[in-house]
This record gives sequence, C-alpha cells and structure tokens, in this order.
Amino acid sequence: MYISEKAPAKINLTLDVLHKRPDGYHELEMVMTTVDLADRIDLIHTSHSSITLESSSGLVPQDERNLAYRAAALLKEKLGVKDGVHIYIHKHIPVAAGLAGGSSDAAATLRGLNRLWNLGLSDDQLAEIGAEIGSDVPFCVHAGTAVARGRGEILTPLPPPPPCWVVLAKPGHGVSTADVFGRLQVDQIEKHPSTEAMIEAIQNRDYEEINKHLGNVLEPVTMEMHPEVRKIKEKMLQFGADGVLMSGSGPTVFGLVKKEARAKRLVNGLKGFCGQVFAVRMLGVRYQGVLDQIRTK
Ligand code: ATP
Repeated sequence: MYISEKAPAKINLTLDVLHKRPDGYHELEMVMTTVDLADRIDLIHTSHSSITLESSSGLVPQDERNLAYRAAALLKEKLGVKDGVHIYIHKHIPVAAGLAGGSSDAAATLRGLNRLWNLGLSDDQLAEIGAEIGSDVPFCVHAGTAVARGRGEILTPLPPPPPCWVVLAKPGHGVSTADVFGRLQVDQIEKHPSTEAMIEAIQNRDYEEINKHLGNVLEPVTMEMHPEVRKIKEKMLQFGADGVLMSGSGPTVFGLVKKEARAKRLVNGLKGFCGQVFAVRMLGVRYQGVLDQIRTK
C-alpha cells in the first residue's frame, strides 16, 4: 500500500524580525501563502520496521539528514509505530531557495504517515511535532495562507489572496537560512513591513494593496551577499510585474501578475538570466484532489 502526498512551496508576502530572543531565536512575524509548485512524496508501506529514503534530486540528502526522513523517524518514535516506510521524494521545488521545500516535504510526510499508519492525529498535533523539525514545518502542515509568529509555529489562518500568477526566479546558487539570519543586525533594520496592512489587504482581497505592502527584512542581507537578487527584482519590474519580493531568506525572487500572458512574458524575459524560472498560480489553500488518496498496488 502506498500514499502520495503533495508538498507545495510557500512564499512570504511579508517577513519581519521583531527582536532577538533570550533563547537565541528571532521573533518573527510573517504572512505566508502556498503556491502551485510542489514536490510529490510517495510513502510506501514496508513490512520491516526501518525507514528508507530516495529522491529524484541529487541536491538533497538521501539519508537520515533529509527533513522528510526526520519527520518519519520522529513520528515513529513518538507514537511507538512498529511499521516501516520507504519515502520517495519527486523533487520539483528548487533547493535552498527560500521556498520551504524541505519543510514542506517534512510536513507532507507527517500528513501522509498519519494516514498510512492510521495514527488519527489532528493537523494541530502534526504541526506541534513538525515544530521540532523546523520553524516552517507547522505552516507547511496546514498549508494555505496564514500569519506565522514566534519562531514560525504560532499560526493564525487567513483567507486565500485573490487569484493571480506568481513568477518565481532563482539565481543559480542556494542560500543558507542560518547564514542570512546570522548576518542580520536586528537593531539596524531600516524598513519593517506592515504585517497588519498585509492582513487587511488579504482580508479585503485587494490585489493592489497586497503588492503595495510586500516586504522582507532579510532581503537587504541576502542582496548584499548576492547582488543578482536586486538585478532580478529590477528585471521583473521592467517586464511588468505588479509587485516583487525575495521569499524567505532567498535567493528566490517572486513577481505577482494578474494575467497568464504577462506571466509568460516575465518568464521569457528572465530565462537565461537566472538559474530557474517558473510561472505558477497563487494557491492560498491546501491542495485537494486525486493525489490526496490512499492507493493500493
Ligand atoms: P526555508 O524557506 O524553510 O528556509 P529553503 O527553501 O531555503 O527553506 P530547503 O530547500 O528546505 O531550503 O533546503 C535547505 C537545506 O535543507 C538544504 O541544504 C538541503 O540539503 C536540506 N534538506 C534536507 N531535506 C531536504 C528536502 N527534503 N528537500 C530540500 N532540502 C532538504
């Protein structure tokens, strides 16, 4: 028996760092939403009790360092599960890109194993377990659109943003999230985004206001290390994006447009200029559909 579960990427419409906490973590405030670009996780039931993992991409670890493996191991340990699983990750989300690919793979593994192993846990319980793996995992368990506070684990759901196209452009290299946070000087942040204004814009389904309030305090930090992030932003605006921003700790830049034709123009304009370019739909809700089923071979 096996289960396939989609693991969608997220983008940050806002990312603010409020202060550094006594425990060393940063206090965050982020508005995140799911986009229609996903990895696929196949979870194959095995009679032996071990966890094994493979991926279509050589860029991610294929052993216990993989976040999906860690999710399965944690769930197995906490719930005392005797069964094993073989995890196959069909990787489509660029790696180390600010799109939460690894966190989403971990979250999809938790959701899928909850069904494969008949554990009966709620999404909130899965998100709590996911928080032990990484700050973005709780959001990815629920997916959709939400404000994330604390380290990212305190979630307030939001309605989906109005439909639009999201053009994602990633320079040829990845970025280490820890490295970017390590370089951030919280007391020298020049411009904080307004989380409240973004929440209001989403609640009002106001596309123009959403574009107006896009903001990420990590952008200048990553830009200093990788100046091509600025160049991609400039090119996106030149080719007609309504709003542009770096997602997460980067280096992926996204541009929002209303029409598919405009999205294609952006993709064509950026091709050859950066490593990977995609035009995908804004989803804002969790995937539902054929993949979300149990299959028997
Ligand atoms: P975030 O936006 O949550 O900071 P990211 O998109 O910047 O994440 P990931 O693609 O999740 O970054 O990769 C970060 C690191 O995690 C990489 O160095 C990668 O080797 C490791 N990793 C472990 N498991 C996975 C996985 N399943 N998919 C991608 N990367 C993984």
